[in-house]
Amino acid sequence: MSRTVYLNGTYLPEEDAKISIFDRGFLMADGVYEVTSVLDGMLIDFDGHIKRLDRSLYELDMRNPISRDDLLKAHRELISLNGIKEGLIYLQITRGAPNDRDFIFPDPDETPQTIVIFTQNKPGLYDNPAAKKGIKVISIEDIRWGRRDIKTVQLLYPSMGKMIAKKQGADDAWMVEDGAVTEGTSNNAYIVKDGKIITRALSNDILHGITRAAVLRFGKEAQMQVLERDFTIEEAKDADEAFITSASTFVMPVVEIDGQPLGAGTPGPVVTRLRDIYLEESLKRAI
Ligand code: PMP
Repeated sequence: MSRTVYLNGTYLPEEDAKISIFDRGFLMADGVYEVTSVLDGMLIDFDGHIKRLDRSLYELDMRNPISRDDLLKAHRELISLNGIKEGLIYLQITRGAPNDRDFIFPDPDETPQTIVIFTQNKPGLYDNPAAKKGIKVISIEDIRWGRRDIKTVQLLYPSMGKMIAKKQGADDAWMVEDGAVTEGTSNNAYIVKDGKIITRALSNDILHGITRAAVLRFGKEAQMQVLERDFTIEEAKDADEAFITSASTFVMPVVEIDGQPLGAGTPGPVVTRLRDIYLEESLKRAI
């Protein structure tokens, strides 16, 4: 069945939603995005995503063409029109479509930005069977650009990373730079050693995950010890547990790295508890 999507203020069937061949999102990956999860028909951490969107736009010298309240209205309208109980809302804003291709940014007064929002229905996001089994990751070199803190639509390398992982029988890849793990292709990466949760500190090297911020906060509130520091892939393989976080996976156990099982090769107690706490606390705050 065709979805109803949002394009520049209008709700329309997905097959009728068209953008220009000159759109800079298409020609130059000149756009930013957010993915917000939906549980029980409600948005998880919506304001966190909007804050990061504002920051991404600011860092790329782009205006914010739509208010938080209008975005919330559009997200809710799409949830309702498409009957989403569990799923994801994808939002993308590009620098728009000047009437030619040019490296120079167009004058924002003359070129309106493009805003696209669509839903992805994902029943089983909450009760994800993968969370009970855990996932397998491989390591690959991180060859992305130096501003990974900006959530741009340049996702070619992450996409290639997932394909490399798939070819090797794994579920995802962790990227490694100068020996240290940066993050997963579309998630933040963590290990657990002697009860301590270890994850790379925030910088331009990684995306500032909205799920990461919530998980670390809830973990600390539950008296769990959190260390924000670099860790090597060797340290990860020797960890008691490992996991990833993102808006689409929440807290997902990692049970194997580069073919090496962690601990008993099944999700451990820390990650299992963190997933439960995250889901419970996030649902309480959902809007
Ligand atoms: N890192 C990268 C590279 C990502 O693409 C994502 C998700 N888009 C994340 C981390 C996780 O961010 P969030 O928790 O906000 O989904």
